[in-house]
Amino acid sequence: MEKTKIIFATGNEGKLNEIREIMSDFLENYNIDLISLKDAGIHADIVENGSTFEENAVIKAKEISKLSDCMVLADDSGLEIDYMNGAPGIYSARFLGEDTSYDVKNNYILDKLADAKDGERGARFVCVIACAFPDGNIITERGIIEGSIAYKLTGENGFGFDPIFYVPEFGCTTAELAPEEKNKISHRGLALMAMMNRLEEYFGDK
Ligand code: IMP
Repeated sequence: MEKTKIIFATGNEGKLNEIREIMSDFLENYNIDLISLKDAGIHADIVENGSTFEENAVIKAKEISKLSDCMVLADDSGLEIDYMNGAPGIYSARFLGEDTSYDVKNNYILDKLADAKDGERGARFVCVIACAFPDGNIITERGIIEGSIAYKLTGENGFGFDPIFYVPEFGCTTAELAPEEKNKISHRGLALMAMMNRLEEYFGDK
């Protein structure tokens, strides 16, 4: 039987592999092939000009959906830091410039929070997944992991802000967690899990 194709609206192969790993049982159970924009032959320059994670994820899913007959998933994520009034938030990928290294970005944040006490270092990773169905219907799911900004960079795993994001339950940063451990508790893992529950209703009824 031919596999159902779902496009994940990203050009980032690393992210797609992480998502395939999180969704592996679901993809197998429902005989789904999760493909990238490149695999789908889609080149799109999408302007993410929404003012929330939800709006940006929906913009991406909707735009790609217009260019294809498949179901489309898209995500938007970022880090909210209380001491910086929620920044970088939806601007996380562009924070201090896309070409600036995360070593520089993370050290900049540590400097900003140099005077922040334990109780003032709250932060969270947020991820919103949007799904655009071929009939034009769109749904979203949000995942959040609460933590705090560490006092120094620690850990080699993950990417981006992981070396400064401390998770109290685990007593370490997300850069110190094995990928499978991070996927189980992360904002992206939680948002995808919630989305898979919604999609199970859809595929179950088909
Ligand atoms: P986007 O969702 O691809 O637009 O990227 C969001 C940005 O948020 C990334 O470039 C990272 O800076 C940051 N970010 C999102 N999720 C994570 C994570 O799991 N670890 C570290 N940084 C993250």
